[in-house]
Amino acid sequence: MLDRITQIIDQGGRIDAVQAGWLWEQADDTTLQALASTVRARFHPPDRATWLVMGIVNYTNVCVARCDYCAFYRFPGAPDTYLLSEDQVAARIAGILSLGGTMVSFNGGFHPDLRIEDYTRLFQGLRARFPDDLTLYEMTVAEFMFVCKRTGISYAEGARRFYESGTRWISGGGAEVLADSFRLRHSPGKYKVEDFYDAQRAVLDAGMGSTATMVIGFDESLEERLQHLERLRRFQDEEGRRLASFLCWTYKPWNTELGGAELGTPEYLRWLAICRIFLDNFRHIRTSVLTRNQDALLGLRYGADDFDLPTEDEVTQKAGATISLEFQRILDSARVLGFDPVHRAPLAVPTPTEA
Ligand code: SF4
Repeated sequence: MLDRITQIIDQGGRIDAVQAGWLWEQADDTTLQALASTVRARFHPPDRATWLVMGIVNYTNVCVARCDYCAFYRFPGAPDTYLLSEDQVAARIAGILSLGGTMVSFNGGFHPDLRIEDYTRLFQGLRARFPDDLTLYEMTVAEFMFVCKRTGISYAEGARRFYESGTRWISGGGAEVLADSFRLRHSPGKYKVEDFYDAQRAVLDAGMGSTATMVIGFDESLEERLQHLERLRRFQDEEGRRLASFLCWTYKPWNTELGGAELGTPEYLRWLAICRIFLDNFRHIRTSVLTRNQDALLGLRYGADDFDLPTEDEVTQKAGATISLEFQRILDSARVLGFDPVHRAPLAVPTPTEA
């Protein structure tokens, strides 16, 4: 089996889910590194890695979804709920810029009182306050779905209204494991997998950029992980490779209803390699400093080519993530591993087949 897989990869081909599962269960780390590096080299110089500084602003912790893996949300009416004002959000963005940030993502809860105009008004106000070259990922696909439903409009209409109000990026966050069996166990009220992809398609068709994400280390099976990758690769084929990047990170179990133990770095790195090998229609595979700290840089040897240096994210910090602002130390660890870390500008919104 390994000879066959190696031949496919060396010839620029594509492996299937059975072969990916075999690699996960049978291949050693050295083999995974080599195969992932071969696929990486189709897109990037072997010793080059890119990075930028970014922060995630969590504008509200009010949420009705009740995902059992989430330590961040508070149900409406709880004493410690919050919803930041535009001034408060602007102050958080200013703090991220002062640390060298060039990109800001937004991630809040499913707030039942917010409608699409609340978001478009907030982001129009924020864009007017900051330079045009600051890239804003204004919500996750999961939040986009919820606000469209609460407003009583289709995803196509919601995407059109966001685009016309100036939104250019929505992130692929809120995906965790895109297998309906997983969703049913842990967040039955959030969405169904095909619903998620319908929303992604609407975002892209309206002219906005989006990304793909995955979170591992809950109780998901290998089959569920592979379902996630298979459906995502098919979507990326169908949509002309318009998802700009893929980021995989790991579940943090502290203060969550689900609990459990944290996944170790070796398993994260092995899965990152599987993602790089399997997702051959993604240019960028990103490794997660937010959840693995300096260890994330080892992901560059397992096929990743890009990473954020995060400044804040309450969602993962509440569940146990620790953030270091010693950016030079983190970049030096990439150099020690033999990579030249190059600061990059935020990506342009991809057009079909350019991603
Ligand atoms: S993960 Fe997101 S949607 Fe789920 S409970 Fe937490 S804030 Fe709500």
